[in-house]
Amino acid sequence: MSTVNAIAAPSATEPLVRTTVERRAVGPRDVLIEIRYAGICHSDIHTVRGDWGKVPYPLTVGHEIVGQVTEVGAEVTRHSIGDRVGVGCMVNSCRECDNCKAGEEQYCLKGMVGTYAGTDRDGSVTQGGYSTHIVVDEDFVLRVPEAIAYETAAPLLCAGITTYSPLAHWKAGPGRNVAVVGMGGLGHMAVKIAAAMGAEVTVLSQTLGKKDDGLAFGAAHYYATSDPATFEKLANTFDLIINTVSAPIDMGAYLRLLRLDGTLVAVGAPPEPLPVQVFALFGARRSFAGSSIGGIAETQEMLDFCAEHGISAQVEVISADEVNEAYERVLKSDVRYRFVIDIDTLR
Ligand SMILES: [Zn+2]
Ligand SMILES: [Zn+2]
Repeated sequence: MSTVNAIAAPSATEPLVRTTVERRAVGPRDVLIEIRYAGICHSDIHTVRGDWGKVPYPLTVGHEIVGQVTEVGAEVTRHSIGDRVGVGCMVNSCRECDNCKAGEEQYCLKGMVGTYAGTDRDGSVTQGGYSTHIVVDEDFVLRVPEAIAYETAAPLLCAGITTYSPLAHWKAGPGRNVAVVGMGGLGHMAVKIAAAMGAEVTVLSQTLGKKDDGLAFGAAHYYATSDPATFEKLANTFDLIINTVSAPIDMGAYLRLLRLDGTLVAVGAPPEPLPVQVFALFGARRSFAGSSIGGIAETQEMLDFCAEHGISAQVEVISADEVNEAYERVLKSDVRYRFVIDIDTLR
């Protein structure tokens, strides 16, 4: 065991504080990572504030982790000391169920082990990436290509894969019309990735405030959803809509933007159930679907894809002492487009 510096939430209502967490001794198949940067995901905030149910405190969150390997167990074959690596939203799964065997560990039938607030195999609570070091089974550690800087790579481990996976699954590519709803941390990655895949990308955002950024990220079109004319103009247009917004939306209005056999995929999670107008589905054999992160192999594929296409997250780097302020800004959508904590400021 080792004690390492971290930032943790003492409770659902108090600000995050500097503290320490325990990391297990490096086992035969474990990798010790010296963390360099950790992204701030909206899920971190929902989790520490108890929005998604009870969690154990104190809790260190963070599942957009990049750093360098500083120690490997005797049986580790995939990673070496000095490698640039990343860890995303999960650190283990059963590896035996049908979904794990299919490389879809995120849908493990016994439940994947979350990077934080999960129950590790030894029964301890997992603690996330707002800390100086983490010990992770080698199979859940990704290679971060040299072409992507550490700080802009961090958000790929959640925001990147969360959008890449549905874009790949529903075949965004040349000749396909893809809309991205919301231009936040997830949305900006969805635009970059879908454009790099060759799709014609449209951003649907509340206002035109981020239009220049959206077009620079690769979108061909940008519309304000506050303007009702948008929904008339774009009816029956898209093969795929990726909804990154976690606030409730008018499902019927968005479904009607899909053309025949189109699919609306939810990757943001509103806390309340969404009413779906079934007639909007009937109208053009439309589908409403959901998607959660991606498997380990697919996450590696995403990182390699981003390196090959020269894309990564647009980030604002902050120090360890600015995390509480950053949380308030995320809640106000006042970030372009992801906060990333410089973990050197925590040492
Ligand atoms: Zn996340
Ligand atoms: Zn499994």
